[in-house]
Amino acid sequence: AKVRILLLAGGQSGEHEVSLSSARGVLAALPKDRFEVTPLVISKEGRWLPPADTTRALEAGVAETGGDLMLRGVADAASFDVVFPLLHGPNGEDGTVQGLLTLAGIPFVGSGVLGSAASMDKAMTKQVLAAHGIPQVPWRLLTRAQVRRDPAAALTAARELGFPLFVKPANMGSSVGISKVRGEDELDGALREAFAHDRRVVLEAMTQGKPRELEVGILGNDAPMASPVGELRFDADFYDYETKYTEGRATMHIPADVPHAVAEQVRTYALAAFRALDCAGLARIDFFYEAATGQVYLNEVNTMPGFTPTSMYPNLWAAAGLSYADLVTRLVELATEDR
Ligand code: ATP
Ligand code: MG
Ligand code: MG
Ligand code: MG
Repeated sequence: AKVRILLLAGGQSGEHEVSLSSARGVLAALPKDRFEVTPLVISKEGRWLPPADTTRALEAGVAETGGDLMLRGVADAASFDVVFPLLHGPNGEDGTVQGLLTLAGIPFVGSGVLGSAASMDKAMTKQVLAAHGIPQVPWRLLTRAQVRRDPAAALTAARELGFPLFVKPANMGSSVGISKVRGEDELDGALREAFAHDRRVVLEAMTQGKPRELEVGILGNDAPMASPVGELRFDADFYDYETKYTEGRATMHIPADVPHAVAEQVRTYALAAFRALDCAGLARIDFFYEAATGQVYLNEVNTMPGFTPTSMYPNLWAAAGLSYADLVTRLVELATEDR
């Protein structure tokens, strides 16, 4: 019998549009003889769209409004074998939807509540990784309330880290809300931008010079495997939203042309991070490599990485001999196996 998959896409997130393009990729690539896939788009308002509206939203690439409260959707979701929450960012990749599906007793692809939440929040991720001795750039957490109480806190933190530095919403992706801050005069604007997306904001020291960006895919539950290491190259100052989603701005190199020992370090740290954060199913774990010093830093863990046929995660596994269709099949299997 065919496996009945409910594919959730869109969502109330700064990465709504990215999620819809991942979903179009999965829908087009899944073998129809093995899977019966039903897409369900969640609008930017967080409501679940009926089938006709879902089809329209997938074509348009966005759903601003419309739909029902998710409670009705959850009842419908119970008639599927597995839910694939192909949602990026807040209200999707952060444990919220995972909690809903857990309560409803429906198996789903990817990390559970803890792994999703701990990996989505950059500050929480860093605290867990630090406890496991995984190298990271120096950083500071600021909350909106803290900055309101003590307006000088941000400047103090920034001076401790030095410039340039990066300001990021703790819970986001696709570089939404992220700024590179070159001096004190740019700090306020960057904070305003980041706090517009999250009440928690992370300041990060920049690597020594523009880093090389290495990414590795993890697949599995209790016995996870690491893919070959890939590298992203681009001309832009940093890997911002436009560079990520404008055709031709960035290129993927798999395997990355780095010393064997560097690739092994990346894979080892990635597996350690996956376990430490209680991830399951899949994750794309991203690193900075300072070629001048040879130092590797773990940047972040993405529990629901971009998933179009040209995205890094499926291509890392293709390099390991796993086709896009086989990869999705494996993810669906992992959803119902022991975590
Ligand atoms: P994703 O879309 O992968 O989820 P994200 O929105 O979570 O990304 P980051 O990966 O944290 O954002 O940062 C985006 C980009 O900004 C990085 O890929 C890198 O180009 C640049 N960057 C971020 N932090 C640093 C840093 N500390 N030093 C140097 N470059 C950085
Ligand atoms: Mg991210
Ligand atoms: Mg992300
Ligand atoms: Mg990133």
